This record gives sequence, structure tokens and C-alpha cells, in this order.
Amino acid sequence: MAKIIIKNEEGSQLMYLAFLAYFTLYPKPWGRIDQNPLAKKAQMYFLRNGLDQEIKNFLDFCFLDFQNYIGESTITYFSLAYHNPQRKLSLLKFIKKNKPKIAPFFNQIYNACLKSLDSFKKSIENSSLQKQIQKATQKDILNKKSLLPDLKKVIKEDLEFFNAEEKVKETVFIITPTNFFPYQFDAGSYFFGKEIIIISSEPNNLNLIEHEFLHAFITPIVEKLLAKNFNLQKNVINLTSQKRKETYGNIASHLLSEELIYTYINNFKIKQTPSYDNFLKNYSFKSEREFQEFLKEHSGFQKRCQKLKINNLHSFQKKSKLFFDTYEKNILSEIIYQLYNHFQNKKENNPDLKFERFLFKYLKNI
Ligand SMILES: [Zn+2]
Repeated sequence: MAKIIIKNEEGSQLMYLAFLAYFTLYPKPWGRIDQNPLAKKAQMYFLRNGLDQEIKNFLDFCFLDFQNYIGESTITYFSLAYHNPQRKLSLLKFIKKNKPKIAPFFNQIYNACLKSLDSFKKSIENSSLQKQIQKATQKDILNKKSLLPDLKKVIKEDLEFFNAEEKVKETVFIITPTNFFPYQFDAGSYFFGKEIIIISSEPNNLNLIEHEFLHAFITPIVEKLLAKNFNLQKNVINLTSQKRKETYGNIASHLLSEELIYTYINNFKIKQTPSYDNFLKNYSFKSEREFQEFLKEHSGFQKRCQKLKINNLHSFQKKSKLFFDTYEKNILSEIIYQLYNHFQNKKENNPDLKFERFLFKYLKNI
């Protein structure tokens, strides 16, 4: 069984705090700031005290000089090398593969990132904010540790289903305390060779951690499968839902990994097919107020409604089929749902059947 550790990562925690300060003081049209009590306090703190100049310069350099090419997750990757120089080589490999345009600037970004984190850390040292964050972090680690037995059980079952124990046998998973200052993502996983770091922003949401955990072996399988298969790449993009493409872009490997994981957790495990009927069940608002509150809390949903001129519960109910067909209908998810059923059946006669081999055979013909 893979090793799972719960511990803080100072680099990413500082960086997310810096994101919050930066976007509070220098608002940009993209990104969102979560409104939990600690985030609000931090915003007040930076409105009063300003942001350390060195980290401001670093974030300007990333966000402005490189436009949208360096974003939250790339900067977070760099920040995880803070006090962890052994991660530098894996980081470089990741950047060369996934962000080739910034590879020539790797050392410049790497050094500036670590230096600015030092400077930022000093600027908040001994502040009440820093103490509050430390206290909340310690409390959160204890909470996460109490969830660990449940999480391990879920993960063990998942690995058994996929026959993937071998794939993560030597991997160390570091689950950080809750990210109190989420900016765009709810969760993310960061690969450094045999070390995978999972950061999520919802304290008790095991599903979110499970999702990130599954990436550890699903993503490499998908990348291998799609590497030279241009037809399949095209099909994946055509067959997935509009909603997924809005969230993950038109990148086949991302879309297929996400769909394999979402369909497994949100559909297959609870035996709920990705159909219009089940969509209606999941979006059955009891009152206008409930609908309006849901709109407010889910900006993606709100945007999609606006585009179809849906602004109240009545119009949502009237146009629910149109809404489903436009955004939610997901043939790829339907195919994957069947794929999991077949895989489960096949395993009855062949308990050692590896998911990777099955997936390659099955998806070749879609
Ligand atoms: Zn994902």
C-alpha cells in the first residue's frame, strides 16, 4: 500500500497567501477569492499592511510578463521546492514537458520564487495573522489525521478495483492541511517523481482527495494511451461535455483523465448513469430561493444559465433538457461508465486483469 503522510508544505501555503494578498490589492479580472473567515482576516491584514515588494515583483513577473501562460498551478509547483531542493530536478522535467515556453527561464523563475518566499515570510513573521494561520493549520492536521483511516479504506478499495497497487507501491503521498486561501482551483496534485503532493481547499471532502489520488496512476496511463493516437485524441475532445471543455480546455489527455476519474467517483461507484434523468435528480431545486442561492455559489453554473437566458427556477425547469444537451451531455462519460461495467465483469473470471491493458483495448475502437 502506498504511503500517505499528512503534513504542511510551507512553500505552497505561503504562496497561496501571497496570491490572496496580490489579488486583493491588485485586482485582476480572473481568479476568485474564497470568503472563509481566515481569508477575510488575511485580506484585511494586507489592505492595512500592503504586500512585500519582492513577492509582488515575482508575481508581476509571472502574471504580467508571461500573460496567462504561468498560472496558479505552475507557480504552486515552483513554490513546493521551497526548502525542498531535492524536488528541483523533477520540477524541471515537469516544466520542460508541460510548459516548454518557460523552460529557458527555469532558473530565473526558480531562484526568484524561492527568494521572494523568504522575503514574504519575513514580512509577516510574528504577526497575528501568521499565528492564526499556524494555529488553524495545526488544528486542521489533527482533523485530517482523524479522517485518515477512512481515506485509506477508500483508496485501498480503489486500488483493488483498478488492480493498480503495483503502480503506486513506492509512491509517497503528502496530503497538506486545507488550503485556507484557495484562488482558482479546489484541489490539485503535484508530481515530484515518487513524491506526490495533494492540496485541497475543502476540510472534510474526502472525494476531492480521492480524485487527486486517482490522478497518480490514471494520468500516466492516459498520457501513454494518447501519445501517438491522434484519432482517439480527436474523439475524446468531440465526445466529452461542453462543461468539461470549459473547465479543462481542449486538451485530450486532461479531458480523458478527468472523465475516467469523475465517471468512476460520481457515477460508477454510486451506480448512477450519466443520464438526463439523473441530471434532473441532482438539480432538483425545491424553491426559487434554493435555486438563486445555488446560482450565487456556483459561478460556472451561473454563466451557463445566463447564456441560455435562464434566470429563475421556472425558466430552468422549462429549459432543463436544452441545458443538459448543451453543457452536460457527455457521451465519453457514458462510454466510460460501460467500460467500468465491462471491466468489473471481466475481472470476475480474470481477477488479475490490469486496468491499463483493458483500457487500451477498449478505447482503441471508439
Ligand atoms: Zn482532476
